[in-house]
Amino acid sequence: MSGATNGAPALVVDGAVKRYDSTTAIDRISLELTNPDILALVGPSGCGKSTLLRSIAGLAHLDEGSIRINGVLVDDSRHRVPPEKRGIGLVFQEHTLFPHLSVIDNVMFGIRDVGRKAARQRASEALEVVELAGFHDRYPHELSGGERQRVALARALAPRPALMLFDEPFASLDPNLRTQLRRDVIGALRATGTPAVFVTHDQDEALAVGDQLAVMRAGRIEQTGPPPNVFHEPANRFVAAYLGEASFLPISDGGAGPVTALGPVAVESDGVEADVAMVRPDDVRFVPDPDGDAVISAIEFRGVTWSCSIMLADGTTVVSNRSHVDPVAVGARGRVEMMPGHPQIPIPADR
Ligand code: ADP
Repeated sequence: MSGATNGAPALVVDGAVKRYDSTTAIDRISLELTNPDILALVGPSGCGKSTLLRSIAGLAHLDEGSIRINGVLVDDSRHRVPPEKRGIGLVFQEHTLFPHLSVIDNVMFGIRDVGRKAARQRASEALEVVELAGFHDRYPHELSGGERQRVALARALAPRPALMLFDEPFASLDPNLRTQLRRDVIGALRATGTPAVFVTHDQDEALAVGDQLAVMRAGRIEQTGPPPNVFHEPANRFVAAYLGEASFLPISDGGAGPVTALGPVAVESDGVEADVAMVRPDDVRFVPDPDGDAVISAIEFRGVTWSCSIMLADGTTVVSNRSHVDPVAVGARGRVEMMPGHPQIPIPADR
């Protein structure tokens, strides 16, 4: 079972614009997804993620720009291919199973153009991929939320789509189930070589699922790239802060070069103006010292670590993780050091 490929990128969005009255929901978005990669699309509520996904699916139509799936033009604002002819599989947050159909009949429902026997065979294979091989004859009301979501995934995979589209598929599930199901879904996509776009507002999920990550804000894509690159080299402050806890320290001219309260910053001389440097909580450590000029201003227990807010001499605050076996008290004095091999990252001003 695998998505049909013809050497073309799985998805090309070029200059896509979609307006609703006075709202520009997506504003000149371009992106490309290589086969069979998984793209996580992340950003705050209202930034246009669903509109972009719905446009790719054919449930919304562009005002400008174009969308190609597997090399086939599906929307250029004049020519529109209907959703059922786009070769896509859709999984939404809500379980959209037919209550009166058994699991196998639900999964067979979307398979067209083959006989009933072949359709049953494909549906069985899809149920195996999502590890529900023994569930053929159950009905939706006899399944847990996670199982229903697996059936929805099998139903979307069974017609062998060229591209899978997920819109917050696990948002209604509890955290443990969510992590497990996410791993299983990624496993199923990898096993079938199916490229996918995965919409989420959850930064941990976005970092975990994708080969590529696109961070959106106000209808635009702020940055795309492999998740580690985007996380460690954010294009601006918005991206840095959206993807995880980050502290920002003002950069000043230290005579011998740019510095922050934590020391020198290596700023590349390619003209990008950086006004702050980013440190993440694993980049800095607090060394207790009664003569130090940094003070613990707050602590929060996070299970594996303590999250310590530290006020520096110049009044800026940095957050640092500390092992759960090595707690410190609010008010403790000390020094803040960069961890070896963890540079301060210069961040350009937001647009
Ligand atoms: P997200 O999925 O990131 O939360 P959406 O794509 O749902 O964002 O929405 C982007 C913007 O477009 C929002 O301002 C939203 O109110 C608006 N919008 C989305 N769908 C419609 C619609 N059908 N009619 C009018 N405005 C819409």
